[in-house]
Amino acid sequence: MFRQLSVILLPLRLLAGSLLTDADFLRISQAVDSHAWAAKAKADLIASADAWPASHLARYGLAALELPPEGGQWWHWYVCPSSGVRLRFEPPARHVCPTDNRTVTGWPYDQVIYSERHDQLASMARDLALAFRLSGKREYAEKSAWILTAYAGRYSSYALHDKDNRNTRSGARAHAQTLDEAIWIIPLAYAYDLLGDWLDGETRESIRTGLLLAAADTIRRYDAGVSNWQAWHNAGMAAVAFAAGDQELARHSIDGPSGFRFHLARSVTPDGFWYEGSFTYHFYALDALVQLAEMAGRNGHDLWSEEAFRKAFSAPLLFAFANGVLAPFNDATTVNLRNYSRLYESAYAHWGDPLFAAVAGSRARGRDALLFGLPDLPAGEAPALESSVFPESGYAVLRASNDHAVILKYGPHGGGHGHYDKLNFVSYFNGGILAVDPGTQSYGAPTHNTWDKTTVAHNTVVVDERNQAEAEGRLLFSSFSDGAAIVRAEAGGAYPNVRLARTMVHTADYTLDLFDVQAADSQDHTFDWVYHNAGVVTTGLPLASGTVVFGRQNGYQHLSAVRGAAAERDWTLTFDGAQSAGGAYGSVYASTPSVRGAFEYSRRQAFVGSGSGRMSYQFGGPGYLLYSTPQIAPGPVPEHPRAVKVAIYGDGSRHRVLLRVNDASDERFVTPLAVVDWTGWREFEAGDPARWPQHYLGNADGHVDLPLRTVSIELQQDPQGPRQGELFVDHVQLVHDGSDLVVADFESAVRSLRVWMLGGEATVVAAGNGLGENLTIPVPFALARRRGRQTRFEALLEPFSGAAPAITGFRRDGAAYIVDGPDWQDSIEVAAGGVSYVRR
Ligand SMILES: [Zn+2]
Repeated sequence: MFRQLSVILLPLRLLAGSLLTDADFLRISQAVDSHAWAAKAKADLIASADAWPASHLARYGLAALELPPEGGQWWHWYVCPSSGVRLRFEPPARHVCPTDNRTVTGWPYDQVIYSERHDQLASMARDLALAFRLSGKREYAEKSAWILTAYAGRYSSYALHDKDNRNTRSGARAHAQTLDEAIWIIPLAYAYDLLGDWLDGETRESIRTGLLLAAADTIRRYDAGVSNWQAWHNAGMAAVAFAAGDQELARHSIDGPSGFRFHLARSVTPDGFWYEGSFTYHFYALDALVQLAEMAGRNGHDLWSEEAFRKAFSAPLLFAFANGVLAPFNDATTVNLRNYSRLYESAYAHWGDPLFAAVAGSRARGRDALLFGLPDLPAGEAPALESSVFPESGYAVLRASNDHAVILKYGPHGGGHGHYDKLNFVSYFNGGILAVDPGTQSYGAPTHNTWDKTTVAHNTVVVDERNQAEAEGRLLFSSFSDGAAIVRAEAGGAYPNVRLARTMVHTADYTLDLFDVQAADSQDHTFDWVYHNAGVVTTGLPLASGTVVFGRQNGYQHLSAVRGAAAERDWTLTFDGAQSAGGAYGSVYASTPSVRGAFEYSRRQAFVGSGSGRMSYQFGGPGYLLYSTPQIAPGPVPEHPRAVKVAIYGDGSRHRVLLRVNDASDERFVTPLAVVDWTGWREFEAGDPARWPQHYLGNADGHVDLPLRTVSIELQQDPQGPRQGELFVDHVQLVHDGSDLVVADFESAVRSLRVWMLGGEATVVAAGNGLGENLTIPVPFALARRRGRQTRFEALLEPFSGAAPAITGFRRDGAAYIVDGPDWQDSIEVAAGGVSYVRR
């Protein structure tokens, strides 16, 4: 059918592009002339065009520019088979497990790198064509055309294959999924469109049919319906349709049975959430919708008037914690709203909402701002952080007068990316997450199914050590007053024979958590109230190993170092964040297995403040250690650093210290700093990283691409030096003209939490370690187990940042719960119809 329709294609356009128009280029050139950020975005495009293809050859260890020999593979396969930790690529063909330095070879690891190469070739084809249009330099157009014509001659010879190397309809050619094929073809369509009639007619036609329309054929084989896949399929097909002048395909991508409008109506819930209940997928799908709408808007289809579209941008603002972090419910990772500033460029340009401008301007403005944004962004407006309920997606956001917040999940399952975690919650206090949801690992990691999705991995109640069923819960009531945000929700059919309902009374000082469970089948059941929180567990309970024995399935097999105790009366247990502030910091890489080291918070030394980073080493042979900061949270400063400053506490060992930064492309810039011939603190300043003696990997272009990812201290062994010892580092700064960015001050904000649970008959309390978002860092848990037909777990969760919690009393008095603070007393009356809260 599709083939026959191709006879009604429009004639080829002349000159002006369809995806970016002459009006766009007029706006862009005016912005470049008048705005520093735009001039910088253009300069970055030109610099990366100049570095091509040397940057690509260096990154992948290639002798000459060539297309990958075959189609790529699934990103999620790229993990250590045993641990599920993500592999590290060392060109040309080594895939290294960072936890044990073991390597894996062959399929599918090589092919995952092919996928990355395909994507880089596609996005460079677009960027080179853009650089050509912005500079007029023919060389860039030639480089871009090489990529397009190479693919035009090769594309159809890549075999259709899926992630398991079978020929199914979800499989593709350059990639293993139609999803990835659609994402890949968009920049190639842009490149074709941008080069326009600079390409001769014959070449154009071969790219149009051999690459663009052929890829659209591949994608169109699979209609994924309500799915983030289909959102991307539509964007990919639209890019081809507008670039190649195929009106039928354009209509199909917008108004077809699973087109853009269908998605806004069916996949975005009325409260503005993408239906999968995960912000990772929300923004993944929103990216596709935005790209399609930008293309369609230049071709006579205004899609920005859809209210659901706008709500998809405003909902995350209401959901985010105070620092912009979005809780990782369902298959998601913890992401910051501000990471999506480029999408808010489009949103602000079309709707002019100052809330959107604030997000758009929260990161350095780059290529997307140049293509789709307005030249000027106002300062913007921060959203009012208020308690709210998202009725269709089923989340209640409870906030207080400080940054203490809780998000309770009760809604629909969320499709294939849902977790079995009804009445789970994530909480936030003093700048970071307290109650942990592990989010998800790569789908190829063994713990994705055995931990991430399980009920026990979440902060809720597990019945009989079994996972909940897919279920949709219900909000029973909510009340948001000045002093307390109160909700009650139930878990629907999460367990066929047991009803679960949770009441939370949330204040600046604590969250009162009442979890009711009731069997409907007159049978006894085992009820496990579970809570996960980082920190060192301390408790007056006589915890001992062997007291509690868990089963070996449904996630319980991942609970380790389990100790338990019977608790008939009230008990407390603290997740001490001050002690764990002495825990691991950033990461350590050892060049060989005979070298070992640790990078930890320490209060033993400080250059400024009260803490520093302890870098311990053990050299069992020659080699080096690399102590790296976590990924740097980009600040508001978009300029290049003039220098990098760091204070180091030496041990006189004569080992050598080097300084290293990784830029946005993962290019490493390295400079020697000193031979450690001193003891005590000394501060060093290394000038502009672009002038440091070594740079390699990443795009290897010698250009420091912002934002910087990490700063690392490299310690190289001197054979005459001691085999083991320790250095300290503090006050790592990027120096700018004007304001400096402190990358690491090692003054970790202390976040502790005390669980205070009222006594209940035959309670057994267990504590130990579960898994977290980073598989190499376990997250402690507390679990209260009761057996019977019904019970109410009555817990007071008190976050604190000082040395000790402040609440002195928690008890039940008839239908009321009484909480005593240092200079207040709360009385919370709980009845079937509602909850009243009074502070005296
Ligand atoms: Zn989860």
